[in-house]
Amino acid sequence: MSEHKDFLRTIVEEDLKAGKYKEVVTRFPPEPNGFPHIGHAKSICINFGIAKDYDGHCNLRMDDTNPTTEDTRYVEALKDAVQWLGFEWDDSVRFTSDYFAQIHAYAIELIKMGKAYVDSVDEEQMRELRGTVTEAGKRSKYAQRSVEENLDLFERMKNGEFKDGEHVLRAKIDMGAANMKLRDPLLYRIRHAHHFRAGDTWCIYPMYDFAHCLSDYIEGVSHSICTLEFENNRDIYNWVLDTLGLEAPRPYQHEFARLGINYTVMSKRKLLELVEAGVVSGWDDPRLPTIAGYKRRGYTPESIINFCDGIGIAKANSMVDVAQLEFTIRDDLNTKVARVMCVLDPLKVTITNYDESEDIEASFYPHDVPKEGTRKLPFSKEIYIDRADFSETPEKGYFRLTPTQAVRLKYAYIITFEEAIKDADGNIVEIKAAYHPDSKSGEDTSGIKVKSAIQWVEAKMAKNVEVRVYDRLFKSEAPEGVEDINPDSLKVIKTALIEPAVITDKPDVRFQFEREGYFYADPVDYTDENPVFNKIVGLKESSSKKKKAPQVAPKAEPKKEQIDGEVVAMSESEQALFDKYTVELKLGSMVADILARDEKLSSFYAEALSSLNSPVSIANIVSNDVARELKEKEVNELSFDAKQIAELVKMVDEELISSKIVKQVFEEMVKSGDNPTDIVEAKGLVQISDPAVIAPIIDEIIEKNPDNVEKFRGGNTKLLGFFVGQVLKATGGKANPKMVNELVAKALNA
Ligand code: ATP
Ligand code: MG
Repeated sequence: MSEHKDFLRTIVEEDLKAGKYKEVVTRFPPEPNGFPHIGHAKSICINFGIAKDYDGHCNLRMDDTNPTTEDTRYVEALKDAVQWLGFEWDDSVRFTSDYFAQIHAYAIELIKMGKAYVDSVDEEQMRELRGTVTEAGKRSKYAQRSVEENLDLFERMKNGEFKDGEHVLRAKIDMGAANMKLRDPLLYRIRHAHHFRAGDTWCIYPMYDFAHCLSDYIEGVSHSICTLEFENNRDIYNWVLDTLGLEAPRPYQHEFARLGINYTVMSKRKLLELVEAGVVSGWDDPRLPTIAGYKRRGYTPESIINFCDGIGIAKANSMVDVAQLEFTIRDDLNTKVARVMCVLDPLKVTITNYDESEDIEASFYPHDVPKEGTRKLPFSKEIYIDRADFSETPEKGYFRLTPTQAVRLKYAYIITFEEAIKDADGNIVEIKAAYHPDSKSGEDTSGIKVKSAIQWVEAKMAKNVEVRVYDRLFKSEAPEGVEDINPDSLKVIKTALIEPAVITDKPDVRFQFEREGYFYADPVDYTDENPVFNKIVGLKESSSKKKKAPQVAPKAEPKKEQIDGEVVAMSESEQALFDKYTVELKLGSMVADILARDEKLSSFYAEALSSLNSPVSIANIVSNDVARELKEKEVNELSFDAKQIAELVKMVDEELISSKIVKQVFEEMVKSGDNPTDIVEAKGLVQISDPAVIAPIIDEIIEKNPDNVEKFRGGNTKLLGFFVGQVLKATGGKANPKMVNELVAKALNA
């Protein structure tokens, strides 16, 4: 492995070196209360990936401690997702519910040690007694109960003598702890509910904080990897295992940043809302970010893994652009799948001077000629082209068929317009054209110049198919829920025509429909009578960030005789650079692609790297900000040099300035040509990392937004980002984001 490991693997290696564990054991511990999504894929890649890299193993454990929301259907979906991504869990699937008896015994042990007690205050009192961030909490009077009384009450809780909520079991830790989670956290609650596996055996259920660490311990987990929101729970995790005196080796918890993607929601609860509201057709609706949705849409497991690996493992939450996921899938399919022709919006063309019929041999892989595989394209007098590929009144730059401009039928002949037949309303219903016998693709001696080649199908042999074109499910980048749904997220095209070779009875096939995008035979609805294809992704990054491009037949103008969106192959040296960037330096494939293909950028990058070994951060700024400057300038015309960029990155790495400030400093460097260090000093941009300065700002923002505080506490944890954003804004972006994150979370969870 290269020297640029992620921080989790660094920890694992250090632990192995220190002899802390004989074997690396990780686990993926979802709650079976919904279908897994791309965030879970990230966690799966990390947990199974680390186990694989260090010859350990990874358990798949259903964290089924909440009987009211869980279901075997979700268990199956979770298993399916892990398998589809190509991972294998150790032994059989584990369930926290299998450990209920053991966990219960540990609870009794804590009670006997005087470290846990049965509390009987109601929820509201409990909240009041918990105190605030600035004020210590108070223990409830029931904390005085004797061990015997606690044992008796706990036994009776278990025997079903009390109603839900009447009593709880709490750990006796510290009501004055700065970490509010340590203020006597709940260990058990009463829930008279049927459990999908344990049946009615239990009416008390352990809380996450108690069950999780013990399940990890029981399974011999070494590294318990979870997402950042559990950072404050780590203290309880350690308290439980330490207080019970559980023998080494015991697991330790490590947190990484949750994956967020724009234009979608990503919690099982929110996804369930969409499913239940009927906004989507089910958990496997191809517009959802669920693994089942991606699978049905035609994403490949490889591309999802590449995406998860490519974005790296971070310690601070961030939002990944969905375009990056789309890039990865395109990148994966580009070289793999056959290219065929499908006309989405057919317009009939009669070739007046052609009366025979012939089969034209065409490669499935025209972009990769040595790859074998051809098919026969029937050609005759009557064909269909896409309506958008003819224009009677073309705008400037329109390169396809017009009354005065010939066009090539891909793999076949050049045709020239003769006449447009219209219906009573003036709509064009047919084109009459002439073909040029000596213009056949590959043996063209006609000398006719065309500017593009378009897809077509032969009328009699073409097969009618249904095409489902998907757009983003949400209109806004950070959607809240159903109200942000994009009404045009699904377009069903019933009239598309496809060349006969595409119709196969092989399931699980993907194609590139030339000039349209990548498509997948829908695994559920595809039948011989009604073949259905899902659009996986377009050929180019969609411009939805600015204005939505029309989703049906989006066509940018090709330059020469070229196919839209064709990714130009890299030269050998570019490919070598790309490999080095992605493998050795661990850059994401999108960033690596940008740098490797551009000489100016790659040498600038190399130079910056020679003064600071921070490959990922430097790559980000070079592929973005520097690249923008270099679009119009040469390197020697820039007002800054590679060394100064390294200096800028260094300040971020050392947490001298916040990552939010970088753009501002960079812009100043562009304008003034000053050193980044001088700019930061002169403008007072040094990062604020003093909690005493940040805390009052947080308090003020919390005070100003009571509604959002309430929503957050009611479960809308996404609003954490809102508060963090407000605080960062209030400090002009100068506050240390990680610290703000922590402090805000603390304050809100108070
Ligand atoms: P959700 O809010 O979608 O229900 P969760 O965190 O409750 O998610 P679990 O089923 O408890 O989901 O999660 C199983 C594992 O997947 C956990 O370790 C969790 O941290 C991880 N995970 C869940 N969502 C993400 C995400 N967006 N990015 C990375 N890991 C995630
Ligand atoms: Mg959950």
